[in-house]
This record gives sequence, structure tokens and C-alpha cells, in this order.
Amino acid sequence: MSVYSKYEAVIGLECHVQLLTKTKMYSSDIAEYGAMPNSNTSVVTLGHPGTLPVVNKRAIEFAVKLGIATHSNIRSKNEFARKNYFYADLPKGYQITQDKTPICTGGFIESKLKDGEILKVNLTRIHMEEDAGKSLHDIDPFDTLIDLNRAGTPLLEIVTEPDLRTGEEAYSYLTEVRKLVRYLDICDGNMEEGSLRCDANISVRLKGTSAFGKKVEVKNMNSFRNVQRAIDFEIKRQIDLIESGQAIAVETRSFNAEEGFTFSLRSKESANDYRYFPEPDLQPVIITENYISEIKSKMPILPNELFLLYTKTYGLSEYDANQLIDNKEIASYYNTLVSHTKNYKSAANWLLVNIKSFLNERALTIAEFSLHPSKIAELIGLIDENKVSNSAAAQFLFPEMIASPSKNALDLATKLDLIQNSNSNEIQNLINEVVAKYPEKVTEYKSGKLGLLGLFVGEVMRASKGKADPKLLNQLVKQTLEN
Ligand code: ADP
Ligand code: MG
Repeated sequence: MSVYSKYEAVIGLECHVQLLTKTKMYSSDIAEYGAMPNSNTSVVTLGHPGTLPVVNKRAIEFAVKLGIATHSNIRSKNEFARKNYFYADLPKGYQITQDKTPICTGGFIESKLKDGEILKVNLTRIHMEEDAGKSLHDIDPFDTLIDLNRAGTPLLEIVTEPDLRTGEEAYSYLTEVRKLVRYLDICDGNMEEGSLRCDANISVRLKGTSAFGKKVEVKNMNSFRNVQRAIDFEIKRQIDLIESGQAIAVETRSFNAEEGFTFSLRSKESANDYRYFPEPDLQPVIITENYISEIKSKMPILPNELFLLYTKTYGLSEYDANQLIDNKEIASYYNTLVSHTKNYKSAANWLLVNIKSFLNERALTIAEFSLHPSKIAELIGLIDENKVSNSAAAQFLFPEMIASPSKNALDLATKLDLIQNSNSNEIQNLINEVVAKYPEKVTEYKSGKLGLLGLFVGEVMRASKGKADPKLLNQLVKQTLEN
């Protein structure tokens, strides 16, 4: 038995979710990514004496939405607190956050692991706070530059219980968080731009024991895969230390993504004292039951509900359902599509195969796709009515429709001469001609060489110039040969 399998890891994640509000958490400064440095930074953001913060209503609404989506208890009396510390990107010397009264407690998030098993992660809390500014170390060769545009941007911090055990579980949980905030339209979920950030707390213990080991916090990971890698690395590092008789230092570490290792940033042995105290310039925010119900009534349909709808009601495979749900815009396109056709399976196929590969080849997103879902429904209708074959639709009609997105699918199919022949009299005439041409093959078929059916079908299809409805054709050929 490997020494690693004697241990299990204990992992808790802290995610910062940057909210898509127009303005900042406590001021009317614009909150946007990529603006001219220090252009969205007023005296309120800087905390100049005499200025007063005001809570952003939108941010409260977003927090409540996330609370509902994560089955959390939502606090009615929300107080704010000052967390005091000095840093160059926090010139006012404190951050307004929630200390003892987080807006959400006791929720959970469920995600799927690779083997399809459901992972349930309990949430300790979700609280509202403001971001600090940004220190830029790589622009000037000598100095660190400070951009305070981000200072005061609204954040929700989601803290999990130490419920996770592996890097893969962390990856699955984070993917679900991103999906959720995107469906809720409260965050763009973009980890590279820092609108979704995650710190991982990791410890290890011998399997079968219940006490937690000393934990290490890892920061600065810019993708979910890197969170997973950092955790896997850290678990091994900690076990190696313990096995060689060394102690785990309680510290904050960073992850080097290029070479795949964590390294120490600072010791946490002496706990920071942030001197939290109630924010004197803000009244508590009261959240009423009415307000919560109002938001509940406007909640969008969420990924887990869509999964049930797609698999149970529409009969899609779990794989297809997940493929559709993974991307909110794709799911939304699908939802409109199936309001125009009842062929759910075919709708999923067209979207996941034909449309997706068209988009991939051109590096387009579904939002840039020229065809309205109702047009795809028209196309599916033509196939289902046996007017156009599936392959002719994919090869000729679909590209033509993309080129003329406002035209009617039937008109285009007619113009391209793709309409199948479903006239049984005409097909029967062609069959009669072919049968007359191969009398000895007919005898062979009748004496049991059933494989010859393909020959007749092929000949008739050729005679029809590929336009005979294949189902009808098959049926008629069989009938003819067996009479
Ligand atoms: P800190 O005060 O260091 O921020 P918290 O108690 O606030 O620590 O916990 C932060 C995160 O660390 C939470 O997600 C929590 O579940 C997780 N956590 C706490 N103790 C441990 C541990 N021993 N091992 C792994 N994760 C832990
Ligand atoms: Mg903490």
C-alpha cells in the first residue's frame, strides 16, 4: 500500500465573486473592467474624511439571488463591519465587509463528478464585501503601480465547509459555481480577468481520524485546472513532510502554474488582527420576506432544474443534457428551439453537432449565429415530414439557410431541388422498372437471399436521382419483392 493512501485531504474553498453591477459596492463610481487606470475612483472609494458610503441595492439583490440558488438562509438584518489593515492598494485603510452577520448561511451546492456521482458541498457563509485596488508589478521595471479602479467593486465571498477531499472535487465544485453565477447573471465568471477568484485551504490527516490537520492556504490560481493541480501538489507535499517527521507550517502559499508547485508567501502562525468593528457610517440593511419572494418569482431556470427537464421530460441522454447546460447561451438557444419543435432529440443533435461545429470552425459564439432557432425548427420539420433527407439537410440546406437567414426553409429546399419524392406511385413505377431488369435476382431473393434488398433499393434510389424518400422506398421494395 502506498503511503499516500493512508491519508485523506481536507479542503475548504473561499471564492470571490465579482458582481456585474454598474456601480461600486458603496459608491456611485462605475465598476468596469479595463477602464483607464484610476479613472473610476472618487473620494468615497478613497475613503476621504467626510465622505459617506451607500450600499448598492443591486448587490443586495444579487446576493439574495445567489442565496436562493444555494438553498441558504437569508439574514433579515444585515450589518456591515470594518476590517482594518493597511496595504498600498487599500489607501483608506479598511475594507467594508460583513463580519458576524453574513447575508447567507447554511446553503449548499451540488455538482457532478466524472463518474456521475453527485458531490454536495455545504456552504459556511456568503457575505458581501468590497474589493481592494490592484497592484501592477509587471508594467514598470522599477516600481509597483497602483490602479484603484477595482477598489470598492462589489464582491460576494462564498466560503465552504471543509467538505472537499480531492482536487477533482474542487474542480467540479468550482465549475458549478461558475455555471451558477452565469445563469444568475450576477458575475461573468471570468477567472483570467479575476472576476472569479478562489483560495484553497488544504490539510491532510490519517484516514479514520476526525481531527483536522494544520491547514495551508493557497492563493493566486488563475484557472480551475490550476486550483486542482495546486491542491494535488499540496496534498502530496504535506504527506511527504509528515512522513519525514516534519511539521506543517500554517502559512499562505502561492502556486507556480508553469512548473506546478506551491511556494510560501507568508506565515499565518501569528493570526492577523483586523480589529473588526461595526461600520459606523452604514445603517443595517433589512431584507424582508416579501423582498425575497419577489426575487424568487423572478429567478431564472437553473442548471440543475434544466438537467431534470432535459433528461426526464425531453428524454435526452445525460451526456447531451450536460453539453447543452454547460453553456448558458447554448441552453437558452435550445430552450427557444424546443418551443418551436417537439423533436427534442433532433433539436439537441442539430445544436450540439451541426451548429456547434459550424461555430467552432469559425470561432464564433452562439450569440453570433445568424439563424434564429425557429429556422432550425423549420429544417427539423422538413426532415421529420420526409420532405428532405437528413444528409441533404446537413450538407446543402443548412449552409444555404445560414447564408439567407431570413428565407423560409421549404423555399430554399425547393430552390436547391432537395425535396424528396414521397409520391408512392412514382416510386412504385421506378421499382417496377428495376424489378423487370433483374428477374434472376428477384428469384434469388425469393429463395432466401435477403441481402439483395440493398441492391434493389440502391438501383431505385439512383433512378430517382437520390430523391426518393428512403423509408418509403424501402417499404415499397420489400412489398414488391415479397408479393
Ligand atoms: P481562516 O480564519 O484561516 O480564514 P476559516 O476558519 O475562516 O480560516 O476557514 C477558511 C476556509 O478554510 C473554509 O473554507 C474552511 O472550510 C477551511 N478550513 C478550515 N479548517 C481547515 C482545515 N483544517 N483543513 C482544510 N480546510 C480548512
Ligand atoms: Mg476566513
